[in-house]
Amino acid sequence: MNQHFSDAQVTHRLQWLVCPIRDLNCQRLVKFSSEGRSTVLTSVVNHGITYHTDAELQGSSGILLAFSERHGGLGSAPYDALNLAAHVGDDDAVVNENRRRFMTAVGAADYHDRLVTAEQIHGAAIVRVTGEDAGRGARAGEIPPPIPGTDVIWTTESTIPLMLFFADCVPVVVVCTSPRAIAVVHAGWRGAYAGIVGATVRAMRTELGDVELLAYVGAHIGACCYEVGPSLVSQFANMFVTIPRASDRLDLGAVVAEDLDRAGISRERQWHLEICTAHNTNRFFSYRAESHTGRHCAFAMLETRL
Ligand SMILES: [Zn+2]
Repeated sequence: MNQHFSDAQVTHRLQWLVCPIRDLNCQRLVKFSSEGRSTVLTSVVNHGITYHTDAELQGSSGILLAFSERHGGLGSAPYDALNLAAHVGDDDAVVNENRRRFMTAVGAADYHDRLVTAEQIHGAAIVRVTGEDAGRGARAGEIPPPIPGTDVIWTTESTIPLMLFFADCVPVVVVCTSPRAIAVVHAGWRGAYAGIVGATVRAMRTELGDVELLAYVGAHIGACCYEVGPSLVSQFANMFVTIPRASDRLDLGAVVAEDLDRAGISRERQWHLEICTAHNTNRFFSYRAESHTGRHCAFAMLETRL
């Protein structure tokens, strides 16, 4: 049904390697596609906080992206420890200190006042963030509040950090290196079904032109742990050829990958962390596994060009 989906047979092999360049706590997630191309996502530990980034992209384009893990923060159970979200019942002061620690760890501490977050609602809105929006939702419990009612924020403005919050839903960062642009997307099953990631790509291209984009997909609940019932899986199978009909488990990563592929970001330009949050509650927050819990983040910022 989807003529644009050409490489469903691509297989991937993942390896954790000790990075010889950076400090000993740094690992590299190397992904090999069937075409033999590879890229590197780097797992960095800094100030006790672990995040996943593309160091090569940052070095070549000044585009900082990061997916956080859950340790290294101040939060106590059930928010232990690096809960970054203001809407889950955690103490605002703890959330703000956690955000400060995270932004320090990724090297963006100077821009905390300009941080932009959103009130995520599993909707279809896509908001372009401009200079006037800098600081919206930067700090929990303070004015100005987050951008209301959107699950996608994107920008072409330098030094405006974007952050959204996750516990099982799919975090996606879409990147354009020329002209520089970043989008952070929150895709739960509703958003994934509605094609919100592909819609983000099309929205960016509408304003930027026919540009080349990259996509990074952070940790989310895997099909291994996402039992949703056969009727919902069947609905997805009607929309996405990579979803097997005879299953009661849903692979949101496959849905997002196909959506990106259809929107013109081929598999060779997608990087998936491929870690199941529900399987790894020692590293990530999981709504399915823990119910009342915190949120890790997807983060991106265009650094100042010298
Ligand atoms: Zn799992």
